[in-house]
Amino acid sequence: MIAAPAVLRAQTAARVVVIGGGFGGASCARALRHADAKLDVTLVEANKTFTSCPLSNEVIAGLRDIGAQQFGYDRIVAEGVRVMLQAATAIDASGHKVTLADSTTLDYDRLVLAPGIDIDFTALQGYDEAASAVMPHAYKAGEQTLLLRKQIEAMPNGGTVAISVPANPSRCPPAPYERASLIAHYLRTRKPKSKILILDAKDSFSQQKLFEQAWQQLYPGMIERIPLSQGGRVTGVEIGTRTVITEFGNYNPDVANIIPPQKAGRIAVLAGAVDRTGWCPIDAATFASKLVPDVHVIGDACLGGGIPKSAGAAQAQGKLCAAVLARDLTARPSEPPPLTGVCYSLVAPDNAFSLSGVYQPKGDLFAEVEGAKTSPVDAPPATRAAEADAATTWFKALTHDAFG
Ligand SMILES: Cc1cc2nc3c(=O)[nH]c(=O)nc-3n(C[C@H](O)[C@H](O)[C@H](O)COP(=O)(O)OP(=O)(O)OC[C@H]3O[C@@H](n4cnc5c(N)ncnc54)[C@H](O)[C@@H]3O)c2cc1C
Repeated sequence: MIAAPAVLRAQTAARVVVIGGGFGGASCARALRHADAKLDVTLVEANKTFTSCPLSNEVIAGLRDIGAQQFGYDRIVAEGVRVMLQAATAIDASGHKVTLADSTTLDYDRLVLAPGIDIDFTALQGYDEAASAVMPHAYKAGEQTLLLRKQIEAMPNGGTVAISVPANPSRCPPAPYERASLIAHYLRTRKPKSKILILDAKDSFSQQKLFEQAWQQLYPGMIERIPLSQGGRVTGVEIGTRTVITEFGNYNPDVANIIPPQKAGRIAVLAGAVDRTGWCPIDAATFASKLVPDVHVIGDACLGGGIPKSAGAAQAQGKLCAAVLARDLTARPSEPPPLTGVCYSLVAPDNAFSLSGVYQPKGDLFAEVEGAKTSPVDAPPATRAAEADAATTWFKALTHDAFG
């Protein structure tokens, strides 16, 4: 139980502004509203429709429609959250004010930043925003997802798809390997002479045994991975010649999916909440920024330590942050929800495995309470098929929880 605070604010309706209506921010705004109807909650989101990254690899592989990834904010509005569908462009931390794209200003008592990631367009030589229209990252879902899908559809049988994987911390570390698996599923059925080349800035990765076993069984000879120690780290691209440059050699794939290093969304920089790591340091118990008073940071944008940058984690953080704010801003003590996360990786439409964990604050970061639970390597096909079904059920629950 979170205890009631010693001092409550004098005003009757405390104002909380949440920037970012993704998994973290939308869940936080809803939970605040449910915690106490007297709280004045405003959610600021740049887009009218949210497009989900989880399950977007299925869209790339032609297994799912992009429409199934999209969610609006009507239900959150109906619950009494004020939703402003425009970008936040500036934050005056000392004046406790947020400025929006149309120059409207919002006053806050507490500000929650949940802007997710920005692609670091300075990290790889030659890879700027214009380059991403030729070599998509598809790490923010929507147009980029569809672009990568189109390029793979247009590729000839016998072509190569290169996927560059960044070092951690990165949004959803297993996602590039899930992507490689599902693209392989598409190629095996439509363009079986084709290959996938993973150029990796890491030597090892989470659930590696499970992925490699699946690749051997389902897509023998189709996926090659070059790890960091063998020169797999991508350092740049040349768009004119469609070249991907690594530490030890150059490649000219037919399709290049470049996933660059990432950083916290820009509004967090404008708030002064980002440190030299590119992410937002927080007190893990309260999500309070270590750099800006009365600002809390949740989801991918925060420096989380042992908790992965995942939708499940962002949602759990959003709810826990709401409980902390409700305690601070109202007289009601509240029960803190657990910080849990589960991540499903599909390697074929009817074949998935998962990784789940329970986390708790440990100083400025999060640590796993107990070791992560992962699916066994030797699970029978029926178990893998059940995990694929569970992934769909999980997604429905996740999006229902975030968007109503
Ligand atoms: C290919 C892929 C597959 C993935 N699969 C999984 C999975 O299976 N399971 C899982 O748990 N996670 C998965 N993830 C990770 C997951 O998508 C992220 O961890 C999650 O979206 C983070 O939530 P968030 O709220 O921090 O950010 P987001 O969900 O990205 O939300 C941020 C929101 O903030 C808004 N915003 C940003 N700046 C502003 C501004 N200035 N003003 C107003 N609005 C702003 C954005 O428009 C966006 O809507 C995957 C990611 C990728 C790329």
